[in-house]
Amino acid sequence: MTTPEDAPEKRFTDLKLSQKMLDALEAARYQVPSPIQAGVIPIALEGKDVLGQARTGTGKTAAFGIPIIETIPPGKGPHALILVPTRELAVQVRDEIAKLSKGMSIQCVAIYGGKPIRGQMDKLKRNPEIVVGTPGRVIDHMTRNSLNLEKLSVVVLDEADRMLDIGFRPDIEKILRRCPQERQTMLLSATVPPPIERLANRYMNDPVKIDFSPTNISADTIEQHYFTVDGPKKMELLIRLLRREQPTKCIVFCRTKRGTEKLFQRLQKKTKLVRCIHGDMHQGARNRTITDFKANRYRILIATDVVGRGIDISDVTLIVNYDVPEYSDDYVHRVGRTGRMGKEGVAYTFVTPEEGNQLTRIEMRIDKLLIRDEIEGFDPYVKTAVETSPPHSRDVNSDTPEEEKDGPPKKTPRRRHRRAL
Ligand code: AMP
Repeated sequence: MTTPEDAPEKRFTDLKLSQKMLDALEAARYQVPSPIQAGVIPIALEGKDVLGQARTGTGKTAAFGIPIIETIPPGKGPHALILVPTRELAVQVRDEIAKLSKGMSIQCVAIYGGKPIRGQMDKLKRNPEIVVGTPGRVIDHMTRNSLNLEKLSVVVLDEADRMLDIGFRPDIEKILRRCPQERQTMLLSATVPPPIERLANRYMNDPVKIDFSPTNISADTIEQHYFTVDGPKKMELLIRLLRREQPTKCIVFCRTKRGTEKLFQRLQKKTKLVRCIHGDMHQGARNRTITDFKANRYRILIATDVVGRGIDISDVTLIVNYDVPEYSDDYVHRVGRTGRMGKEGVAYTFVTPEEGNQLTRIEMRIDKLLIRDEIEGFDPYVKTAVETSPPHSRDVNSDTPEEEKDGPPKKTPRRRHRRAL
């Protein structure tokens, strides 16, 4: 297993790339390869199978995208198929491929549910070199004979763990069985649990394993805090936190679509600079919400996990876990929306007194303690007749870290700008 530390510092010019590719990278303003790119590109260019453990935000798309663009023959495709778990990621990967193949005659088409199949069929008729798609829609096109896999020389399984989580395993296996045996397979996954290993053993040819594992997610660039709060006081806490932090770009994560919508309706009464995104919305509205967020047309995005995961928005300064995520891995992915590509970010998690165990599980997962925070003058507990506000179990725990015993950490003043709240 190779680890990032093993990889010496490289430049794109060290990676034996074509001049056209170097020009595209310059136009994209990518100055140096990210560690996963430096690790994966040379191996992939040799045609070997790669199993890369990496999360979104590490530059993984270009890590498999660059070798694909460099090696596939022009015309009469598809020569490469990239399977992704969500529609958003399909669009994002397609856009990244378009950026990396600037000035080259390479067509990349995204096929995913929620969009009329006809338009996609027309695009596939032009035999694009690269197809990015969600497994369900790919199967749909295979059944209609609008997608022919015979010429494939590369298959990528992006965010493979997520695809299995969502239940795409039968679809993925069906697709892989229909792909030519003689091919290169790249699998990217934030985690490599046994089902992923089984998939790799079955459908990959002696893959080179490269570990850029997500334990690096809680990188030093992300401050991670938690608040103890009773459920009914969460909304007030959120408003006070947003007032205190004045984020330029913030994502608030909720556990359910309904919860997301409800919080949006309530927050909308306080500020116009808020939108929400969840799976019940039409694809067009979802795409617009993401584009507007990237273009800074509003500040606060309220999102669910599936939609939030994988979206590439590089300058998010603040993450709020309004609800503790159901799975610790989702915490890793949520918090990974900030502090990307070395930028700084802060994440706050709202924990109700009953959710102490979930907090502990997250801390074990990231191998780091979250720092307790408080808002001055705000009582996070609902008043009861006898005025008992049960503190969070961690507050009375003897292994509470020293800095917590001294009260909430001192905050560094943040830059002033137009206030959202
Ligand atoms: P990804 O992990 O593929 O979602 O990439 C995260 C973000 O990093 C995207 O906005 C990419 O466009 C950007 N990116 C990828 N590689 C580089 C690089 N070498 N230098 C600067 N930005 C990059």
